[in-house]
Amino acid sequence: MKIIMLGAPGAGKGTQAKMIAEKYGIPHVSTGDIFRANIKNGTELGMEAKKYMDQGLLVPDELTVKILLDRVAQADCAEGYVLDGFPRTIPQAEVLDEALNRLGEKIDCAINVDVPDENIVKRMSGRRACLKCGATYHIEHIPPKREGICDSCESELVLRDDDKPETVQNRLKVYHDQTQPLIEFYTGKGVLKTVDGTADMQDVFAAITAILG
Ligand code: ADP
Ligand code: ADP
Ligand code: ZN
Repeated sequence: MKIIMLGAPGAGKGTQAKMIAEKYGIPHVSTGDIFRANIKNGTELGMEAKKYMDQGLLVPDELTVKILLDRVAQADCAEGYVLDGFPRTIPQAEVLDEALNRLGEKIDCAINVDVPDENIVKRMSGRRACLKCGATYHIEHIPPKREGICDSCESELVLRDDDKPETVQNRLKVYHDQTQPLIEFYTGKGVLKTVDGTADMQDVFAAITAILG
């Protein structure tokens, strides 16, 4: 099963993608997590990506596409995957499509997690991230068991640099300009499904599993 998560920054794509990955036994592939791991390890890729991420801009397609295609070519992705944060532009979606076509494969479902802009800034300022294992929490809605500490790996949780309100505004603009057109793209392919992302995390997940079966 090959699934794409669509939605604004902070819509809950990552939260849902992790639950989907667990239930269906497929890897959760997040380009944002891959970039953050590279930043943390001080790689050349990380340094390059950080220039864009800190401003709320997209990392150039060329760089991003290569990373993603390398990742999904790995053995653990053979039975499928859930993509979180990719594609984010039409050219990225087209490259993915062509790569899948060559293998005689296709995307089974693109899930659009719909949350209005008004809710987003509040969600992001409350988001706390574990940069070690990629887990995400929310100080009000989805708190960790111990304040500031990751439930899964006990690392310290942080407010991401790009989750500050000024940067979130830029990211929302980028979303509407560059990523939202993908809703039409996947509607055209007959695989788009929209869920109400303002519901409780468990209710959103129930809507998604009803779609995926
Ligand atoms: P969120 O879902 O909260 O917006 P992500 O972790 O998916 O955050 O992405 C964080 C940042 O990483 C993005 O703002 C962008 O700079 C970069 N990024 C992640 N995925 C992509 C992508 N597919 N194309 C370009 N940039 C990306
Ligand atoms: P995305 O990957 O789309 O950027 P996340 O999954 O990281 O979004 O969620 C953004 C923030 O909102 C996080 O702090 C997360 O814990 C919280 N969150 C996710 N889903 C919900 C929900 N259904 N209701 C309330 N808060 C949520
Ligand atoms: Zn962790």
